[in-house]
Amino acid sequence: MQEFVYIIASVLFILGLKRLGSAGTARQGNMLSACGMGLAVVATLVGSGFSWIWILLGIAIGSAIGAVAAKKVPMTGMPEMVALFNGSGGIASLFVGWASQVNPPGGQLTVAQAIPLYLAVVIGGVTFTGSMIAYLKLSEKIDGKPVQFKGQQIISIALLGALLAGGLLFTFNFSGVWIVLAVLLSFAFGVMVVIPIGGADMPVVIALLNSYSGLAACAAGFIISNTVLIVAGALVGASGLILTGIMCKAMNRSLSNVLFSGFGSADAGGAGKDVEGEAKPISADDTYYILESASSVVFVPGYGMAVAQAQHAVKELGALLEANGCEVSFAIHPVAGRMPGHMNVLLAEADVPYEQLVEPDDVNPNMAATDVAIVIGANDVVNPAARTDETSPLWGMPIINVDLAKTCIVLKRSLRPGYAGVENPLFFCENTRMLLGDAKASVQALVTAFKE
Ligand code: NDP
Repeated sequence: MQEFVYIIASVLFILGLKRLGSAGTARQGNMLSACGMGLAVVATLVGSGFSWIWILLGIAIGSAIGAVAAKKVPMTGMPEMVALFNGSGGIASLFVGWASQVNPPGGQLTVAQAIPLYLAVVIGGVTFTGSMIAYLKLSEKIDGKPVQFKGQQIISIALLGALLAGGLLFTFNFSGVWIVLAVLLSFAFGVMVVIPIGGADMPVVIALLNSYSGLAACAAGFIISNTVLIVAGALVGASGLILTGIMCKAMNRSLSNVLFSGFGSADAGGAGKDVEGEAKPISADDTYYILESASSVVFVPGYGMAVAQAQHAVKELGALLEANGCEVSFAIHPVAGRMPGHMNVLLAEADVPYEQLVEPDDVNPNMAATDVAIVIGANDVVNPAARTDETSPLWGMPIINVDLAKTCIVLKRSLRPGYAGVENPLFFCENTRMLLGDAKASVQALVTAFKE
């Protein structure tokens, strides 16, 4: 019966994942996956011989922390929370592995159990400390810049070598010494994997750590022979890897280049040309006149829209423009914001029609014919240096070509660079106007102007 319920849960996960693939069906997909997980938890509890008190206590504490955290977290803090959750998944798998060494399922460890056990500890440990560093970088509690020092790669290779050797020895005598060593080494390796990565490359790390947390759970499933944990872990592992591929493609970088080049560090080269010129400010009233006579407008949201919580006002402005006979679309760059799908989530929250969301490849070919591109708190993802300056650290990253639109209006608070720390020549282009100020206040001023 338990295995049968696990199969139903697995089917729900797969259907849920499929539905998460499009914004229109994503909520339903989330629901289906949650139902699958609920079924899996109930089946595991009913079929287990555990003491219920401990399980219920665990559920109560975990649910309370999860519910409070999810309620309290602001939308801008979501990426950090995802990083923390990834880390929690990693450490949970590590504990399953460690506990199984101390108290082997079936009384005696076999080699077939020892291998996934060691993998769960190592991948779980790397995921845990890697995610903690990602959390600290994203929440700006530590500097987001890559940390690189002499001999760094040698240390990383030595740690990896020691982990492999420890794994080999563990399969011979199943001694707890190798597990304690693996915990310490994998913690150190997790730190070493993430500290050299910074700037615009962080999305790849987030996706990769997500995948690792799935692989660790999958390994834990093999130790305790839990089919649904194996399936769910494999799904997270595989989808995380696919997402990593998508993020790399969105930045036109290879995974090895992301992991080892130290993007944005002083010695990674590519400081970029000096950006010169004078930015031309514009008032909300003048922006209104431009928008009022436009027949096509592309909105390009970025991290600043999340900070300002401007999505509802942006949706309202879009609707007013449409009512004015203007063709409106929202161009979403895959790495905009601070987590994969960040902009999609915000715009979905504001009920922006899905058919108005477009990808860079769809919008770029028509950009020169677009009357106005309006950039709402985006910076790196619209930086033309990625296309025009070979010495720029962003060189080669596909961007949304707002600089080619007839008029480009940029909403932000200052001329400061974005997350990657790279100056943006867009602000000084002939056809660019800067509407400086908080994005929500600026968009609301435009909405008021339209209504009046
Ligand atoms: P950026 O981080 O490049 O720029 C955001 C801009 O928003 C800033 O320049 C800031 O300018 C502006 N801003 C901040 N607050 C406000 C506000 N209240 N009102 C108006 N503007 C505001 O954002 P992008 O979305 O263009 O690019 C995302 C970057 O983050 C990329 O480099 C990406 O690689 C990286 N990243 C992405 C992740 C992902 O998974 N999507 C994860 C981790 C990193 P000012 O201060 O002048 O207002």
